[in-house]
Amino acid sequence: MDRVLEWVDEGTALCRRALAEPDAPSLLPGWSRRHVAAHLSLNAEALGNLVHWARTGEERPMYPSAEVRNAEIEAGTARSPEELRSWFDESAAVLRSSMATLTDDQWQASVRTAQGAPIPATKIPWMRAREVMIHAVDLGAGITFADLPTDFLEALCEDIREQRGDVPAITGPLPQVAAYLSGRPYTDVLGPDGEPAEPLPPWL
Ligand code: ZN
Repeated sequence: MDRVLEWVDEGTALCRRALAEPDAPSLLPGWSRRHVAAHLSLNAEALGNLVHWARTGEERPMYPSAEVRNAEIEAGTARSPEELRSWFDESAAVLRSSMATLTDDQWQASVRTAQGAPIPATKIPWMRAREVMIHAVDLGAGITFADLPTDFLEALCEDIREQRGDVPAITGPLPQVAAYLSGRPYTDVLGPDGEPAEPLPPWL
C-alpha cells in the first residue's frame, strides 16, 4: 500500500509537469491536454466518493452516469490554464489526504468501480496510480512508459493481463509491453511466432 501511494505521488508530479502547457493536443484521439486534465481532476473527485463510501458506509458512486461524466469533462475544458492546474492540484491533494484518514477496517469496505464491479477500498490507491501514470504519458508532453517506475510497470502489466484475460503470449522490453497492453503506441513487441504483435484496443 505504501508503495502504491508513492506511485500516486510520482504520477501526480509527472502529470503536473505535463500540464505546464495545457493548450496542446494529447495522444488520446479527440482529446486535448485540457480534456485529460479535466478527466484527471474529476477522477480524483470520483475516487474521493469511493473513499467517503468506505469511511461512512453511505453509498456514493464514482459518477452519476457515463453521460454526466463525459459532459463534465467537456465543460471542464473551458477553464483557464491556471484554473485547470489548480483544480488538478486541489483535487489530487484532497483525495490524497482523504485516503490517509481511512482505518484498517474501512480499507476493507466494499465499494464499486464506475463499471459496477465490487472492489475492496484497498484498490482505490491503485486505481488512482494507474490513472495518473498512464495519462502522464497520454498528455503528450514527452513522458513515455520508459519514464515510469519499473515496479509500477510490472504491476500494471499484471493488472491488465488479469483484466483483459485473453492477451497473446508476447515479448518485448517492459515499457513497450506495458504500452502495448494499455492499448497505447508501442514498438518492439513480438507475438508468439516472432511476428510484430497486433495492437489491442485502448484500456482505461
Ligand atoms: Zn482515465
